[in-house]
Amino acid sequence: MVFQDKMEIIDQIRQAANIVELASQYTTLKRSGRRHVGLCPFHSEKTPSFTLDDEKQLFHCFGCGTGGDVFTLVMEKENLSFPEAVRYLAEKYNIPLPERRRLSPQYKKLEERIQKITEDTLAFFRKNLYNTNEGKNALSYLQKRQISDEIIQKFKIGYAMNSWDSLISAFQRQNIAPKDLEKAGLAIFNQAKNSYYDRFRGRVIFPIFSESGKVVAFGGRSLFDAEPKYLNSPDTPIYTKGRLLYGLNICKESIREAQEIILVEGYTDFLALYQAGITNLAAPLGTSLTSDQIYLAKKYATKLVVSFDGDTAGIKAASRAVSLGFEKGMQTNILKLPDGFDPDNFIKKYGIDAYIKLKDESVPGLKFLIQHQKKGMGSQIPEEKTQIVKNIANELGKIPDLIVRDDYIKQTSEYLQVDEGILRSIINKKTEEIPEKEKIRFLPAEEILLKILFRDKGITSRIISFLREDYFKGLKGEPIFKEIKKAYTKNKKIPDFYEFKQTLDKSIYSALSEIQFGENIPHTFEEAKDCIDSLKDRSLEMKCAELDAQIKKLQRNGNHEKSNELLSQKFEIKKKLSMSSQRNH
Ligand SMILES: [Zn+2]
Repeated sequence: MVFQDKMEIIDQIRQAANIVELASQYTTLKRSGRRHVGLCPFHSEKTPSFTLDDEKQLFHCFGCGTGGDVFTLVMEKENLSFPEAVRYLAEKYNIPLPERRRLSPQYKKLEERIQKITEDTLAFFRKNLYNTNEGKNALSYLQKRQISDEIIQKFKIGYAMNSWDSLISAFQRQNIAPKDLEKAGLAIFNQAKNSYYDRFRGRVIFPIFSESGKVVAFGGRSLFDAEPKYLNSPDTPIYTKGRLLYGLNICKESIREAQEIILVEGYTDFLALYQAGITNLAAPLGTSLTSDQIYLAKKYATKLVVSFDGDTAGIKAASRAVSLGFEKGMQTNILKLPDGFDPDNFIKKYGIDAYIKLKDESVPGLKFLIQHQKKGMGSQIPEEKTQIVKNIANELGKIPDLIVRDDYIKQTSEYLQVDEGILRSIINKKTEEIPEKEKIRFLPAEEILLKILFRDKGITSRIISFLREDYFKGLKGEPIFKEIKKAYTKNKKIPDFYEFKQTLDKSIYSALSEIQFGENIPHTFEEAKDCIDSLKDRSLEMKCAELDAQIKKLQRNGNHEKSNELLSQKFEIKKKLSMSSQRNH
């Protein structure tokens, strides 16, 4: 998104979003005048200090100092980056995001070209499966795996010839250069031979489709003992690993209906279950599960059932899924297969009903994590138990919904036989209140000026040139003023205060957030100018004190010439100061 587009979207979101509604997801709020208050979702407290200003659409916690606007709120609570928060809110409030890179026609052209090549390649692979001898071999492999013709058609399975250039030559006949195939992830350049070769060779091809059903990449299973056994397309202009779920284009409706998504590791598990009649399915494909994929799953379902292999790698991947589920607020269960089984060979041996039964008995993520943690650790040994408790508490701390988190804390306390209070104190340790002594206090003039700069933007542009660097040198707000000057020089505009969240120290940001909460009295240009003058006087007084110290030192050393020079400098400053005090009285 270019800057202008981005600002437009952000403004639209800000108008549509309601901070009270958003914050109500995380805590219970009560109205109090033109504000809402509640128990802070960022730290543990007994009396509410989490405050929302309905009018300004801001929040601030007077206990722990967390504050900001709708974006900051979801960034903190949902563990999102700023662009992710924009996407999250845009989706929530039905604001269409402009297509990525919409404004670069070259890039769009490249995407279109790659898309066309990928589609032609799919057609080529499918033809190979039916029209060649090698393809017949591949078909009989699929039959051996008991994959039906109907499934082969539906998922458009194909075959890549066991050749170094079968695809490259086919495209060359249409005047498409290998370089373009390389961009599409289909050819690889060999530097030693200064030539290209096909990426997929001698493999059954499982095309990967976007959510809307466009083919964007391929996965291939080797039939010739080549390594790796499963090979996937690299990232291309139309495909990013970890952003898609295999099969979602076909299964999304059943997933939505069931409000449950079963995740399996790969193509063969997916196809075996699909063929057996389970259609609320998807596969993360090769990579370990990503938060983007959970985000995608959450669009269609409230509950995630992870059905990975029963081996060590599968269990590790399942733990990661639980952790991501916690983070993104998605209920996650683990379907446990006996050791040595994957969904495919399990249903072949025991049938689909046995699998469904295991699914119905799937273990809640928390219980699974605890069991997994306990494995190999003696929960009777105090040090090891402490470690388990800490690990679990760390996971629970990621759950954004406080009510859900509370429920999990209770369960954990039961499973692990640990006092709830102890668990809570471990979880809250990270978000304890800022001790009073660390709180930052601005000078009165500094505080008013900061309010004006961020709130009365009409005045800002008139006074900003009066604000010189030496006026705010050494002030608590120095880093803020510096950022303001920098941003103004760059964009002729002062950003909203929460946009400084990344650049400012936490305690300074908190103090800034707090003063945005003061009474909404409109200020005038003269007031702003007075504040600047007062800061100027202060800087002059400091300069005087500095000179005094230098003069004393010079006199002690008998350097009268230099000390007299500084004395006259000091008188000049004093004169300025007395003029300014006459002006003020
Ligand atoms: Zn707080």
